[in-house]
Amino acid sequence: MEKNEAEKLKERLFKSKKNAWENISNEEKNNIYEFSKGYIDFISDNKTERECTKSFAKILKENGFKNIDEAENLKPGDKVYYINREKNIYAAIIGEDDPENGFNMIGAHMDSPRLDLKPNPLYEDTELAMFKTHYYGGIKKYQWVNIPLSMHGVIIKANNEKIEINIGEKEEDQIFTIADLLPHLASKQEKKTLENGIEGENLNILVGSIPFNGDIDEKVKLNILNILNQKYGITETDFVSAEIEFVPAMKAKDLGFDRSMVAGYGQDDRICAYTSLEALLDIHAPKRTAICILADKEEVGSMGNTGMESRSFEYFIDKILEKTTGNSVGLKDKVFSHSRLLSADVTGAYNPNFSDIYEKNNESYLNHGVSIIKYTGSASKGGASDANAEFVGYIRNLFESNNIAYQVSEMGKIGIGGGGTIAYILANRGIDVLDCGVPVLSMHSPYEISSKFDIYNAYKAYSTFYKGE
Ligand code: MN
Ligand code: MN
Repeated sequence: MEKNEAEKLKERLFKSKKNAWENISNEEKNNIYEFSKGYIDFISDNKTERECTKSFAKILKENGFKNIDEAENLKPGDKVYYINREKNIYAAIIGEDDPENGFNMIGAHMDSPRLDLKPNPLYEDTELAMFKTHYYGGIKKYQWVNIPLSMHGVIIKANNEKIEINIGEKEEDQIFTIADLLPHLASKQEKKTLENGIEGENLNILVGSIPFNGDIDEKVKLNILNILNQKYGITETDFVSAEIEFVPAMKAKDLGFDRSMVAGYGQDDRICAYTSLEALLDIHAPKRTAICILADKEEVGSMGNTGMESRSFEYFIDKILEKTTGNSVGLKDKVFSHSRLLSADVTGAYNPNFSDIYEKNNESYLNHGVSIIKYTGSASKGGASDANAEFVGYIRNLFESNNIAYQVSEMGKIGIGGGGTIAYILANRGIDVLDCGVPVLSMHSPYEISSKFDIYNAYKAYSTFYKGE
């Protein structure tokens, strides 16, 4: 049907808000479904920052990346990585341009909300053996009871031997769980707020119930320690030098009759980590050096020597400069001041179950592509890294001319809450930074939801960005 004048004018002047599945080609649809299979496997098999680091390092090596310490000099096209304490990775492909012209960088994080063990975790209460936990990252505590949990991590023994633990992921493995109160006796609990219905000190994981045979105290605890000792050679003291994380034991799955979405644990921010690394693998001889940052500790403020606040990232940049043009005083600042970075982190997608939380014109929606967030922060934009209009302009033009679906949003009504990413940390170093990630429903829950279109589109967006001249 012929469009009338008003329709034509509207099409020209209005910002289009389209569900990206409309008018999608069969070929593109196949690419989206294929790509999401790899992603589903990855997040099912890698549930901690250490596991992600190990798997990403393997992928990098298989794709011709070398440990930067093994390279004497670096020339355009060379591919290198640096692994920081088994928990975070930096990878780079050296560009043709002089480093002074700046790098194209994407930064995502691999840590996700979870339940960590306290340093003295094991105890027995009324003939049940339990682990005390201390939650990591912003969780709604009531979501973590009565779901299957698996145990991941490392224990360093008194002789410095490192034990790696992964129990609960294989079909035949046992799982663990936290026992909530039955509804029949919960009338007092149900009157509490959601925040207090399950307290931090209630997040105790049930790990055993058979007593050791003998006339002593704490027989169930002893039996559990005996099992752990026989299996791993550890004693109770060894938990002191351990990092044990309990995470949802469920595998990621296709969601919906149309299989258009992915449900799975740890999508914040492995969705951006996976897509930004996969995008890097496609780049061969970039004009500007392309860098992928896979950070740790974002969920607890990016502190520590594996978080984005750590100087280890600058150490990696120094190494690159040293091995390309040679390093000099002030060079790194010059590189940073000419560099661009996408802070690749998820944002909350609009959830129709809670419509009063949102300001509909400025939210992210599933199936509308990567979300560009000019600034994060809360009520007063406090603490936000506010991207410059010029840089936002560069990115939207890049996306528009390369057919990348994007949307621009905030997160929730003013004053409702807020969040942050690693954006400000890198912006503080003089880099042009913009938040650009995938919208996720039920973020920080044990089973987060994303759109397969958005996942594949993020991969395309990041690939386009790395290639930007
Ligand atoms: Mn995140
Ligand atoms: Mn998060």
